[in-house]
Amino acid sequence: MHIENFFKIGREQLYPLCRSLSGRGTLKTLKIIKKNFKNLKIKSFKSQQKVFDWKIPSQWEIKNAYILDKYNKKIVNFKDNNIHVVGYSRPIDKKINLQQLLKNLHTIPSMPDAIPYLTSYYNKTWGFCVAERFKKKLLKSYNEKDKFKVVIDSKFKFKGKLNYGEYYIKGKSKKEILISTYICHPSLANDNLSGIIVSMALIKFFSNRNNNKSIRFLFLPETIGSIAYISKNLDELKKNVIGGYILSCIGDDRNHSCMFSKYGDTISDESLKETYSKFKIKYKNYSFLHRGSDERQFCSPGIDLSLASIFRTKYGEFPEYHNSLDDFNLVTKKGLKGGFKIAKQAILNVDNKIIPIAKYICEPQLGKRGLYKLLSKKNIIDNQDCWKILDFLQYSDGKNDINKIAEFIDLKINVVKKLYKFLISEKLIY
Ligand code: ZN
Repeated sequence: MHIENFFKIGREQLYPLCRSLSGRGTLKTLKIIKKNFKNLKIKSFKSQQKVFDWKIPSQWEIKNAYILDKYNKKIVNFKDNNIHVVGYSRPIDKKINLQQLLKNLHTIPSMPDAIPYLTSYYNKTWGFCVAERFKKKLLKSYNEKDKFKVVIDSKFKFKGKLNYGEYYIKGKSKKEILISTYICHPSLANDNLSGIIVSMALIKFFSNRNNNKSIRFLFLPETIGSIAYISKNLDELKKNVIGGYILSCIGDDRNHSCMFSKYGDTISDESLKETYSKFKIKYKNYSFLHRGSDERQFCSPGIDLSLASIFRTKYGEFPEYHNSLDDFNLVTKKGLKGGFKIAKQAILNVDNKIIPIAKYICEPQLGKRGLYKLLSKKNIIDNQDCWKILDFLQYSDGKNDINKIAEFIDLKINVVKKLYKFLISEKLIY
């Protein structure tokens, strides 16, 4: 039910836009999301700003691009398909011969009908992407002396912007579940319009619900967007985020697959495993060594937010990946619904877990608080083993829910629950 509406918006309004790291198509995408969710915040980073080891690139705008043959016939037109132009191509307006043209013409030889999707963000170049079948026809129909006019009407704004979107759903606690997807791919459906569509459906679902935890949705240009976002918000993220997911290639109906975080044992990983087992879904778990999206940033040393990724069929693992066949024949309502169902349940699982976090660095001084006496007076622990408070606090590092803590410290769950409430009331955990 949640998917239907957003599937339509995705296919009709978002799919045709020429998205990239920056520029009008990406901003328009955010504005369309905002039309549906007025609390979406559209924010930006300035071009040339340094973020960790990177620099925000200039803003790229493209109006038009085409190739004319000697009869003035448009044989390639950006307006037919925006992936005809290599993303971030520099402007060009020139007559060149067939040989020169071929040097800047990209195809996938093994897939005669597919137009490849290519970008060159940090290396200034220009190029056109076409189907191998088209290139073969070109070689047959023209000879070496024929001239072609190539036009790419693009520009770089040195003082430009890199836009991104953020949607925050306040829960009972400030502890936060982070959901990230990317918005930098042009007319491609699974990678990654599917992530945008599923994110919208999730916003709809979770904003109509009383959540225990807060949920933050990010719509970022991949890699540079997440690096910039993390660099700006690291302290807050480290303080509040207890888990979350990256949504990528989540709309085809072929497989269920995922990538757990680096060590595969975090709250996000466990909640996702519980989801697949609840629905009795067979899934493929890709090694973290095969990562390719923003888990590269969110799981980096020093960041360690340990997000897991949810896919239907992972990027790089389907033949339509990064070419024009990644369209709405591949991405279906059924596929998106399947992706939504998994993401929704995994988030619910994280939301339902009680995850205590110690308020003090190092052991708090319990003696001065009179806790030992209080504990025995309240009859929380039978044998008055007050050391258990310290055991509980040791495992209250945000990585364990109370069930896991019960196992670690060898107490029954109902006792641990009492201890949890007691420590909350004594302001030793939150
Ligand atoms: Zn991609």
